[in-house]
Amino acid sequence: MSETDAVRAVMEADRWIDRVNSQKTHLPELRELVALEDELRGLLLDLKTAESALGPVKGALDEAAAESERLRRRAGDLDATLGASTANAKELTALHVELAHVRELLARSEDRELELLVELEPLEERVSEIKHRAQPGVARRGELRDAVTQLQASLDDELVSLRANRAPLAELLTPALRRRYESALARVGTSGAAVVLEGRCDGCRLALSPLDFDRFKAQPPDTFMDCPECGRILLP
Ligand SMILES: [Zn+2]
Repeated sequence: MSETDAVRAVMEADRWIDRVNSQKTHLPELRELVALEDELRGLLLDLKTAESALGPVKGALDEAAAESERLRRRAGDLDATLGASTANAKELTALHVELAHVRELLARSEDRELELLVELEPLEERVSEIKHRAQPGVARRGELRDAVTQLQASLDDELVSLRANRAPLAELLTPALRRRYESALARVGTSGAAVVLEGRCDGCRLALSPLDFDRFKAQPPDTFMDCPECGRILLP
C-alpha cells in the first residue's frame, strides 16, 4: 500500500468514526427528548402555580368545614339541653337566644363553605388538567430515555470496533507522517487529511489559490502538502 493510500485509509476510518460520533449526539430520539423535557418543565411550572393558587382556598375550606362542624355540635348540645331542661324561664330564654345565634353562625359558615367549594372547583380542575396533560409526556420521556441509552450504547460498541480497525491502518504511516496527521486531526477534528476535489479541500471546503493548486498538482507521489486553510494533509 502506498503512503497516499495509507493516509487515505486512516482518513476514511476517522471520517467514519466522526460520523458515528455525531450520530450519537444527533439522534432524533435525543432531539425529541430534549423538546419533551422542555415541555414537561413548563408543565411542572404551571402545576406549581396552579397548586399554589389551590392551597390557600383548600386551607380556608378545611377551616370553614371545621367551624361548621363545631357549630353543628354546639347546636346539637343546646337542642339536647333544651329538650331535657328543667331550667327556669330566664335560663330557657338564654338557651333559645344562644341556639338562634349558633344557627345563624352555622348558616353563615355553611355559605362560606359553599363559596369556597365553588372557588375550589376550577382550581382543582386546572391542577388535574395539567397532570393529565403531563402523563403521556412522562411515559414517553421514559421510553425515549431508554431508547437513547440503548442507541448510544450500540453506537459506542460500533466506535470501539471502528477504533480497533483504525489502529493497524495508522501503524502503516511513517512516524513523521503519522505525527503530522495526528496533530492536524487534534487541531481541526474529523480527520487529519482531506481530498482535493475540483481545486477545493473537502475538509474545510476552501478553494486552493491557483498557486497552491499548481504546487499540489506538481508534487511527486507520496509527498504531501497541508491545506493552507485547515492544515489537513491534502490527498489527490
Ligand atoms: Zn482544508
